[in-house]
Order: sequence, then C-alpha cells, then structure tokens
Amino acid sequence: MNEYSTSKVDRQRFFEQLNREVRRSNEFSSPIALLVVNIQRFSRINSLHGYAAGDQVLTAVANILANVARQQDSVSRIGDDQFALLLSGISNPEHARLAAFKVERLLELPLQIGTDQIHCSVRTGVAVCPLNASDAEGLLKVAEEALLVAKLSGQSIGMAREETHNIISETWDIEIELADAVESHQMEVFFQPKVSLQSGKPVGAEALIRWNSPSRGLVGPDLFIPVAESLGILKPLTQWMLNSALRLSGDWTDKWGQLEVSINIPAGLLIQPDFIDIVKSVEGLWQPHNITLCLEVLEKSFISDVESCFEALKRLREMGVKIAIDDFGTGYSSLSYFRDIPADELKIDQSFVFGLLNDQANAHIVSLIIDLAHRFDLTVVAEGVENQETLDAIKALGCDVVQGYLYSKPIPAARFNQWLNNF
Ligand code: C2E
Ligand code: CA
Ligand code: CA
Repeated sequence: MNEYSTSKVDRQRFFEQLNREVRRSNEFSSPIALLVVNIQRFSRINSLHGYAAGDQVLTAVANILANVARQQDSVSRIGDDQFALLLSGISNPEHARLAAFKVERLLELPLQIGTDQIHCSVRTGVAVCPLNASDAEGLLKVAEEALLVAKLSGQSIGMAREETHNIISETWDIEIELADAVESHQMEVFFQPKVSLQSGKPVGAEALIRWNSPSRGLVGPDLFIPVAESLGILKPLTQWMLNSALRLSGDWTDKWGQLEVSINIPAGLLIQPDFIDIVKSVEGLWQPHNITLCLEVLEKSFISDVESCFEALKRLREMGVKIAIDDFGTGYSSLSYFRDIPADELKIDQSFVFGLLNDQANAHIVSLIIDLAHRFDLTVVAEGVENQETLDAIKALGCDVVQGYLYSKPIPAARFNQWLNNF
C-alpha cells in the first residue's frame, strides 16, 4: 500500500497515482473503484476539541481506511477533511460499496482522542472505472458528485449512477447481500421450545435467527453469523433479535404461565458500554408481562475479561434478566470461577448430549456437569435431544430442562404459538 499523509494534503501525488491506475484498468479491463471519504463537521471537531485533537482524528480515520484497504489498494488525503481510497482490481462494483460500509461501521464506536471520546462520522462517494468514467479526472468528478448526492439526501454512501449496465457477479457474494439484510427485512426469528423434565410442560423457547436471502432462500446462522461478525454488524443484528423476539413473545399464550424467551448474545457485546442500556430500552419497549428475558452467553465470552463480564452479568440479573451459559463444556471454564459465575442456567453442549448413549466417559462428564451445576443452584438445560432414549438417559442423570428435535425443530415465530397451544 502506498504511503499516505495526514499532515499534508497531497492532491498532486494522488492524481498521478489515479492516472496510473486508470490506465492500467483500461489496459487490462480490470475495474477499479474510487471512494471519496469526507469527515462530517470536521471544522466543528477542530473548534470544539482543538487542532491537535483534529489532527489525531485525521490519523484515526486514515488508519481505519488503511485497515479496510487491501495490499494493492491505497489511501491518500486529498482535502482538509477528505480522503481517497483507491481500490484496484475489484471483481464486482458492489465490493466498493462494501468497503464504504466497512469504514462506516468501524467509525460507529467513538474515537478515543486523549481524554475525549469523539464521535466522528463520514460520508462516502463511490465511482467505478470504467463503469462510471474511463479517465482519472472524470472518475474523481463522478465520485465527488456521488458524495454530494449522499450529503444532500442524508445518506452515508453515494454510488455514482451507472452509465452502462450493472455487472452482477455470478457467484453469491454473501458479504454484499448481508450488509443490508437487516434493513431490508430479510431476517426472521425462529423459536425452539424448551420443556421441563420435572413438570413435562414448556418453560419457554430459544430464539434462533434465520436469513431469508433473496438469492439463496433460508440460510442458517452458522453460515452467516461469522460473516456478520467480520462486517461489524453483530451488534445491530443482536439488537434486532432482542426487539423482535420480545415483541413476538407477546403473542404467546398464557396457558403455561410465565415463559422464558432466550436470545444468543455474541462474545464481546456483553462488555460494550451501552449493552445494558440497549437491553433496558428493549425491555421497556416490549416486554410482555408473562415473559422473562434470558440472555445466552457463550462460555468463551468470559476469557478476555472475566471481571467486566461478570460485572455486566450481575447488573443484568439485578434488572431481572436471566443468564444462561451456552455450549457449556466446550470453553475454557475453570472450576474456580464456577463459584462466582452470575448465572441462572447452564446449557450442556450438544456434542455431549449426542454421545450420551454410546460413550460411557461422555455420560460421566454430563453427570458431573449436572451435579456441579446443581450445587451452585443452576438450572441445567440439555440441547440436542433427538430421541426418547437420550431423553430417558439425560433425565436419569438429573437434568432439568431439554431442548431438541424430539419436541420440535426451531419453527417460524408465527407457528410457535400454535405449538404452545397444542402441546
Ligand atoms: P446454539 O445457541 O447452540 O443453538 C442451538 C442450535 O442447535 C440451533 O441451531 C438448533 O437448531 C440446533 N438444535 C437444537 N436441537 C437440536 C437437535 O435435537 N439436533 C440437532 N442436530 N440440532 C439441534 P441453529 O439455529 O442453526 O443455530 C446455530 C448457532 O447459531 C446457535 O447455536 C448460535 O450459536 C448461533 N445463533 C443462532 N441464532 C443466533 C442469534 O440470533 N444471534 C447470535 N449471535 N447467534 C445465533
Ligand atoms: Ca444458544
Ligand atoms: Ca448451545
């Protein structure tokens, strides 16, 4: 990647480079994209926080752009509050929009500048060569126009209007489609019931996300959650899930008394400063009187910062939210922190449940986990119960609640109330 400078605007050098890249693009019929990235209200940052802070903001934005850039791309400062990101060799013009989207997401958290936290946002104009222009000057002009259109219409990303037909890539580009799947209402909530072994009655359900992709149909989370993570959209996705699951559980029957709705919380979100406020506001908005919210956190979420995690869990429990430790047995728990874990429920990982009938050692582990959990007043949930034999075995070991295909696969929210009524 070429060197960039935040201390000096270097339009001349940028222009030479743009010329070179455009020539190469035409010569090898390999599209390139130009992103013109403008920092919003930069003069205000300077006047509020001082010029030194303004310079640090420029450096931070330049670093974010460098982060999004690949080896062959380059970043230049082309105006007081303006950068250019030149992407060479893009196979699909939509990749340029995706890069702009990544920059936007990376700036969602405030920048720590000295002792100040500064919120900084950008608008981006995107143009592709040769789709929108086939010479350097034209390309810059079109990208700047797209930026202006974005500013005027209050959008963060402006794409230059295409003069030729859109080239749609043949291969499925999951990143590109996923980037606005939430906003395009393509996400869906499925529920899978949890049943008490003691009473034989439903005690609630786990909400599991599905993506209704226009090109692929129903896509499961194992495929797209890692992509959502790399795009930095797990937080809005979780927020959407919290809102949707709590809203939908309002339709559940009163027949079984108080029921629990469980949401999966990705590692890392728990210790974000605004996570508790997000939960509070979602609860304030939707929580039906007969529904308890339960958050499923992965055992592995704790390793990075046990203290802050436990602190967050404690505060959530004080609000009446239940906490479940998900996929237990696969993480790195040590027995010593078991004592302090602020949780209500422990979910034994499916891999142990699957092996229950054929593997004696496995059965010993499950039995130990159940005993240990009960000593610390935790309710034990077994996931992945697919048949009656496994159910009998897990019941004999003292498990409290089961979830699995034996009772029901995850089903669309609209069908779940019917399931509850007919059970
Ligand atoms: P998980 O939290 O362990 O969820 C349980 C998974 O096991 C679900 O897969 C469920 O369909 C599956 N399952 C339940 N009972 C059985 C059974 O009897 N047999 C078998 N073979 N499988 C069973 P799903 O829905 O594909 O979700 C996979 C994972 O994706 C989840 O694992 C969870 O880690 C993640 N996930 C799902 N929804 C969300 C979400 O809204 N947010 C986040 N961050 N992650 C989610
Ligand atoms: Ca789970
Ligand atoms: Ca699990």
